[in-house]
Amino acid sequence: MAACIFCRIIAGQAPAKVYYRDEQVIAFQDIHPVAPVHILIVPIKHLESINAMTEEDKPLIGHLFWVARQLAAQQGIAQSGYRSIINTGPDSGQAVFHLHLHLIGGQRVRFPMG
Ligand code: AMP
Ligand code: ZN
Repeated sequence: MAACIFCRIIAGQAPAKVYYRDEQVIAFQDIHPVAPVHILIVPIKHLESINAMTEEDKPLIGHLFWVARQLAAQQGIAQSGYRSIINTGPDSGQAVFHLHLHLIGGQRVRFPMG
């Protein structure tokens, strides 16, 4: 069994509310949402962070944002706005070391987020 919680979700070994999935990414509900919409867009491929990204991953990162954009429209927050965040390393507060893009919206979000 994979040690990584997001790899377990991808493998169907841990539960998640899945909004979207294709060959490259999965998008599921954050377990501790900070806003009415809080979805994580996660590459199927286990990459620890942006620091682990290689040049061949450039289209994958673009795809994460493309899916975020589609989900924002689907969730009705495209016009009201949203934050899309990727945390990298200790100073960012990254807690899960499998790359993910947070899509956060549905209310005015504070900056910084705390
Ligand atoms: P980060 O600080 O960017 O690494 O964020 C990790 C995010 O993953 C947090 O917002 C957590 O609430 C979320 N999270 C952790 N475990 C799970 C899980 N099993 N299912 C869904 N979201 C999770
Ligand atoms: Zn993983």
